[in-house]
Amino acid sequence: MRTALISDIHGNLEALRVVLDDIDAKRSVDRIICLGDILGYGPDPVACAEIVADRCEWSLMGNHDYGALYEPTNFNAAAEQAAYWTRAQFELEHDADAAARRWEFLGHLKVRTTFNDFLCVHGSPRRPINEYIFPEDAINSPVKMRQVFERVKKYCLVGHTHVPGVFTDEPDFYPPGDFEDTWTFEDDCRCIINPGSVGQPRDLDPRASYGVLDEEKCTVDFHRVAYDVESVVKKIHAIPELSNWLGDRLLEGR
Ligand code: ZN
Repeated sequence: MRTALISDIHGNLEALRVVLDDIDAKRSVDRIICLGDILGYGPDPVACAEIVADRCEWSLMGNHDYGALYEPTNFNAAAEQAAYWTRAQFELEHDADAAARRWEFLGHLKVRTTFNDFLCVHGSPRRPINEYIFPEDAINSPVKMRQVFERVKKYCLVGHTHVPGVFTDEPDFYPPGDFEDTWTFEDDCRCIINPGSVGQPRDLDPRASYGVLDEEKCTVDFHRVAYDVESVVKKIHAIPELSNWLGDRLLEGR
């Protein structure tokens, strides 16, 4: 089974489209799964939700999906305003069937799920929607990392930080460049894998990020794809409720 891993789309339709085109053209996957944060920050939340509902086998609930659907918790002012604007875009729908279908989809996003040896959460195994596992935690927060890994039997897939890479239970963190973009699982080594963000990368590389898990080969490949960042920035700048910073940061990938 080959599974494309996408995460943290954040209403960035241009990035989502190029990632799906790249997957379709080059990766011959059996399915696509989404690790959460379809919504929030970006200018096209409704279109992104429609596409994920159509193309992904399932999606997790991210903190920004939760924020738009229920209530924004622990958000800064710009993120909170973006969450309310995002919700309003769904409320603008006049077609009652389309609106109901979208709310139904968003309301059934999974908080936590498993398949084979993989636990899947947006944030962390301790706090699936909201807790970050940052690369620097591997050095600075050994107790946190131990407690996180206590909840991982073998392998875990996460999103949320928008930084691609792999955590091992040493603990350590390896960005994709450290292993030439292909991580190989070893039976006796637990790991947590983050495929990075489709719509708002934060590792100083503005290109969209995603992964492909191959369970037979025991590998995850990390991929980057360039997209038309400028036109997304323009859309964000044109929407008063979305802070200009949400566009500007896309240019630098931070
Ligand atoms: Zn996110």
